[in-house]
Amino acid sequence: MTTDSTPQTPATGAPKPPLTLRDYEAMGIEMIKGIGPKRATSLRKADIHSVLDLLRYYPRRYIDRTKEAAIRDLREGEEGMVLGKVTSVDLRRIRGNRTMVNVKVSDGTGTLAVTFFNQPWRAKQLYEGLPVVLFGKVEVYRNSLQMSSPIVDLIGDQTGKIVPVYPQSEKAKIASADVARWVGETLRRSVDRTIADPLPDWVRREQKFIGRHDATFAIHQPETMADVAQARRRLVFDELFAIQLELVQQQRIRQQTEVGVDHEATGTLTGQMVDGLGFDLTGAQERVIDEIIADMHDNHPMHRLLQGDVGAGKTLVALYGLLAAVEGGFQGALMAPTEVLAEQHAIGVKKLLDGLTVEDKMSMFPTRPLKVELLSNGVPTADRKRILAQTQSGEVDILIGTHALIYDSVQFFNLGMVVIDEQHRFGVEQRAVLRAKAQGDKEPDVLVMTATPIPRTAAMTVYGDLDVSILDELPPGRTPIVTHHAAGEMEEHAMWEEVKAEVAAGRQAYVVCPLIDASDKIEARSATETHDELTSGVLYGLKVALLHGRMTSAEKEEVMADFRDGKTEVLVATTVIEVGVDVPNATIMVILDAGRFGIAQLHQLRGRVGRGQHASSCWLVGETTTTDGEARIEALVNSTDGFELAEIDLELRGEGTIMGDRQKGQNDLRLANLARDRDTVVLAREVAVKMIDEADPALSLLLDDSAVILGKEDTEYLRKS
Ligand code: ADP
Ligand code: MG
Repeated sequence: MTTDSTPQTPATGAPKPPLTLRDYEAMGIEMIKGIGPKRATSLRKADIHSVLDLLRYYPRRYIDRTKEAAIRDLREGEEGMVLGKVTSVDLRRIRGNRTMVNVKVSDGTGTLAVTFFNQPWRAKQLYEGLPVVLFGKVEVYRNSLQMSSPIVDLIGDQTGKIVPVYPQSEKAKIASADVARWVGETLRRSVDRTIADPLPDWVRREQKFIGRHDATFAIHQPETMADVAQARRRLVFDELFAIQLELVQQQRIRQQTEVGVDHEATGTLTGQMVDGLGFDLTGAQERVIDEIIADMHDNHPMHRLLQGDVGAGKTLVALYGLLAAVEGGFQGALMAPTEVLAEQHAIGVKKLLDGLTVEDKMSMFPTRPLKVELLSNGVPTADRKRILAQTQSGEVDILIGTHALIYDSVQFFNLGMVVIDEQHRFGVEQRAVLRAKAQGDKEPDVLVMTATPIPRTAAMTVYGDLDVSILDELPPGRTPIVTHHAAGEMEEHAMWEEVKAEVAAGRQAYVVCPLIDASDKIEARSATETHDELTSGVLYGLKVALLHGRMTSAEKEEVMADFRDGKTEVLVATTVIEVGVDVPNATIMVILDAGRFGIAQLHQLRGRVGRGQHASSCWLVGETTTTDGEARIEALVNSTDGFELAEIDLELRGEGTIMGDRQKGQNDLRLANLARDRDTVVLAREVAVKMIDEADPALSLLLDDSAVILGKEDTEYLRKS
């Protein structure tokens, strides 16, 4: 051993320092034995570029061979796992253009018959002599043991009690057994230098975390399932901690560098608005308004997320903030995700603010009416020019619009407050562009509203740099919406009878058309067909209107106006009505082919009814073909609580993608699962805050480490938001 204290020139034989994640990231996969140029190319297609990517290519699950059964010992009705060899494969076509693949598997103690319906590719995947692991429910059919569509794993000749199963990819030609071999090789080569662990001792001790090196080994080559659990705990923390560290860091930097508008909320306008409401604010509304006003008085810019269930009264709260800005002589902007919603907002806001006046510095009169304008694609050119000019000169006090607000042509005189409704529809970039429209070096206050309740832990991850206000109280006098599932003809009949009865009683109805991913052209056509069928069929004689995304703004506005005024009784619509539409007299909603919608979307849609004093109902129509679809509908029938539904959704969907607008279903988290690991999210947040606020000596190492874990794209994403 050496006692040399000059690390620059270590004596030969001195132990070299462990390699960091960044070091492993710098090593190309070609370094690994068995990966040549051709393999490397196909691995890159699966986003595996470096040795680090291999180390972080985690098993999807494990086969616990201690639980393996001999075919002879399988019991009917129980789940079983067997390992055997394929002895025959037979593909045949059956009725209705379907296929059936019959496979026989033996393990020396007996033979198991396996059938796959409509998976013709199995006939190519499986061949005589191939070793396979099968999981599934054991049935007995004509006196022989069988499994129907079991889970099949091809693990090659991997040994060990616990065998990792890696995600496979046809496209990149990645088989689980190959990955296991490459990872094994990588691990062997990292034994000497080991994998550095930048997490300070105090965290490791407090949380009883194993080291990163051991965790990496154990996740790939565990001895027991308990090893996996320990390894997972540590590596999940690393993932979530990387995100939190970045977010908390951003928040701190912002707090130190950004200067916001110091509003003078005098209460002159807000007071008048509240007096004119005809109802009292809810306790939750008052509390959240206080939070917002406090932020506005502060000279750090507000970055606040306002969450509240559908109908909780978010718009009013936002408007209060906008008016408070106007009181101090600033302009406000309200950005909505769709034309219909922007128009709804404009109508509602103008009505609420009718009669309010502001000080007029530009003319000889002391006051002038408060000016609210709508800027959307539907606004005629002449009006548009005027609105733009008046926005620039400061005559427009509150500008409402769609993403049209972020076009270059829109210039504000002194933008002080920005409200963004239904945040999840907007990209982060759009938020940033709007914010940048403030003059000078002062940032406007930003309030982001969402009616899609985000579970607390997910919010902490996605919006970790925002302060959060929650409207957790509905205005009084609402009767909860009763939700039914119409799975068959009898219920559907009852449903249409109820629609007619509601209309006869003077109420109105929505019929939501099936969701079609293909294109809004096809969706519009299908909505038109649904409309025609209903008007000539069950809804014959009623005043039925149609609303879809392919109509012009003027057409849409006319349809909405007629429905608002009660001139039409039933509105057949696509999901264009999903957000913000506010017609309190509408009391019944029918959602066709409801199994195709997600939980959040169904909850949003349903929120269009139940907005007035009359009891409301919602019918979800259609047989569900998947268990997930069934679970979604059941959740909606059983609960009207958006937060509870969001939790269920998270559990059903897995974590989904939380960063950027990547394709749905793609995960940015490798191991962590926001539903399952919610405690770890909270813990990661706490540790990140403590480390940054106490300037932990390990901080710079950890920040660099986090940047590697997150990757360039995600780090940029988090920095921009
Ligand atoms: P959200 O945007 O949260 O879905 P809205 O702001 O659209 O909810 O409010 C839903 C309806 O409830 C609107 O018609 C609104 O006028 C009304 N409302 C809002 N706050 C109250 C309150 N405190 N008491 C009674 N009605 C309210
Ligand atoms: Mg709203």
